[in-house]
Amino acid sequence: RDTRGVKMGAFDGKVALVTGAGGGLGRAYALALAKEGAAVVVNDLGVSRHGEDEGQALAEKVVDEIKALGGKAVADRGSVSSADDAQAMIARAIENFGRLDIVINNAGILRDKTLVRMDEAMWDQVIDVHLKGTFLVTKFAVEAMIKAGQGGRIINTSSYAGLKGNFGQTNYGAAKAGIAGLTRVVALECARYKITCNAIAPVAKTRMTEELDMVPESYAAEDVAPLVMWLASEEAAGVSGRVFGAHGRHYFEY
Ligand code: NAD
Repeated sequence: RDTRGVKMGAFDGKVALVTGAGGGLGRAYALALAKEGAAVVVNDLGVSRHGEDEGQALAEKVVDEIKALGGKAVADRGSVSSADDAQAMIARAIENFGRLDIVINNAGILRDKTLVRMDEAMWDQVIDVHLKGTFLVTKFAVEAMIKAGQGGRIINTSSYAGLKGNFGQTNYGAAKAGIAGLTRVVALECARYKITCNAIAPVAKTRMTEELDMVPESYAAEDVAPLVMWLASEEAAGVSGRVFGAHGRHYFEY
């Protein structure tokens, strides 16, 4: 609480960009950050496929939820795999909220097939969204963070599939292993600017995993959010280049 007795959030005055934040995990991160005072750029190119909301942009939906809680947020409908859109996301943070402190690279898609049945388009789509998307958003975010000189936090999304392997996911596994590699290099390059870069490998029940028996019903996106919040916080200033698993609320380092 401040001197007037007003409740202070852990991320008051901070600005975050969450990609793919209309979905399960990204929405949970955006809401958690906003509840702790961060202003959030909510990115997603998706559109709701459910009931009365059908056709509504997912990013706008989450922005409405944040505003209903008294938080600050702006929607962005760009694709992470477009360089122009990635630059526009960073600009949106700075134009609307004056700075950018935290980036959560979370956008993702699946196009599963066994190797022999996987065609080139399925390979390219998954590599483009996950690996190229993480590269582009991180590149332009780090450029802006170095310019501002106030440090920053980059949190990427890897996966069990990329670290240990999973059937039918050569494209996704390669992209997620690549994200772990990118994370370590960005951590080394950015240490001098007080910018940390870590990755998480979550397991949670979301639209992406709704049909997978191996993901327990009780593993919620909200269970993963505290790990992301910690990595985004001042307390984690000395943690960089690491990959953390979050199986629901069970956290460990890979
Ligand atoms: P989700 O499908 O609910 O959310 C992903 C969101 O990304 C969607 O809303 C989608 O519209 C958006 N998106 C797709 N392509 C995009 C693009 N080009 N630009 C911007 N947004 C785009 O899935 P989720 O489970 O919340 O997944 C979030 C992240 O976590 C993904 O990177 C996923 O690979 C990773 N992951 C999830 C699990 C899990 O158990 N849920 C496990 C391992 C990794």
